[in-house]
This record gives sequence, C-alpha cells and structure tokens, in this order.
Amino acid sequence: MKKTDSGLIDDLKDRLEYFKHMGIDDVSSEMAGAARLDHVSSPNQPNHPMEEIARRIRSCRKCPLAETRKNAVPGEGNLSADLMFIGEAPGRDEDTQGIPFVGRAGQLLTRIINAMKLERSDVFISNVVKCRPPDNRNPNRNEIETCQRYILEQIDLIEPKVIVTLGNIPTRYFLKTTRGITALRGEFQEFNGIKVMPTFHPSYLIRNETDRNLRKNVWEDMQQVMTFLGLA
Ligand code: URA
Repeated sequence: MKKTDSGLIDDLKDRLEYFKHMGIDDVSSEMAGAARLDHVSSPNQPNHPMEEIARRIRSCRKCPLAETRKNAVPGEGNLSADLMFIGEAPGRDEDTQGIPFVGRAGQLLTRIINAMKLERSDVFISNVVKCRPPDNRNPNRNEIETCQRYILEQIDLIEPKVIVTLGNIPTRYFLKTTRGITALRGEFQEFNGIKVMPTFHPSYLIRNETDRNLRKNVWEDMQQVMTFLGLA
C-alpha cells in the first residue's frame, strides 16, 4: 500500500514522539530505521510457493476470524531467511494493513531487529494465527489448530536456522508446553531440528516499559541468537 507524502510525514512525526517516549537519545539513527520500515513492502515473488501460501491465507475462511478480519496477514520478509520471528496474531494495525508487526509492538520489534544489525527484509516475520482475533484477545485453541498449517508450511519453505518465538502463544505452540515465557526465555530449545529462542513479546515490553530488566533480557536472548548465527 503506497502512502502519500503527508501520510509519511505524519507517520514519522508519530514515531519521533514514540522514540522520545521510549527515552531514545539517538533519534537520528532510530529515525533512519523507522524510515526504512516504510520501504519494506512484501518482497514475496508472484510465482514463489510462498505467494501461493499467502494467496490461500488471504482467501481462507476455515475459522470464524474470517468473519471479523479486514485483512489476513500472511507474513513478510526474506524467503530464505536464517531467522524467523513468530508472534501470536495480527493486531489492529496489522489487520488494517495486511502486514505483520507494523503497530507499536512492530516498531519495537523493528528496533530490536536493527539492533541485531539486520533489516526487517533480512528476516521473515509472521504469526501463528493469520487473522486478528476481535478486541486483540488471545487466539483460541481452535483458531491455532485451524491456522497452524500455514505457519508450518512457511517454516518448511524457508528452512530457518533459528525461530524467535515472541511471547507465550507461539512459544507454547512450538514447544508443546504449558510453561510460561518467563521460565522458558533465554535458552535455546528445538522444534523439528530448528533452534527456537523464546523471548518476551514486544507488547509486553511496552506494557511494562518501566521494567528495564525485561528489555535487557530480550537483548540477552537476541545476543545468543546473533552468536549462533555468526552475527555477533
Ligand atoms: N502482535 C503479534 O503477535 N503479531 C503482530 O503481527 C502484531 C502484534
């Protein structure tokens, strides 16, 4: 979706406010990262099998979320990425734009990715559930089970070396556990031979932004990922 110049300027103003709010001093380099965000369109190629999966997701009506969504959100990024970030389900901004992690939590995720010396277009970003649950509630078991085929197909195609699961929902899904993210984060686990690093969801960091330990924890987790991928 192309934005008008005034829309872009409004976006940048919003982000500037947001960075100030987060206490970020070096606004110029953060703004450079934010500006890049506007240029990340879906790099999916029309004849690539990933685009075929995306087409099926966009027309999927297998669960009740199809009734309330504006747009399904297939995911985007590098189709041969070493690293995938997987969240739970789209929120309001993602539902409006059809692109994953573009709201406040998404902007924080983008900063985390940039801090890892990567661009959004270097990684693949997706969710376990591809349509927004009403009022941003957690996706339920039926929605996760119905939707799981898509994320599994995406992982099979991309063959990442590492999956970072963001928060409880994707972590519990991939690790088949009921344990919580606080206990699970910070240690590599495995899913079908792929390393999984559970970490806190960026929304959780935003909701608890006075707790600097949470951000430190996430950064420690990402440093482990960088070391594993030879980026550190
Ligand atoms: N939260 C998620 O889990 N996924 C998104 O795409 C956006 C917010």
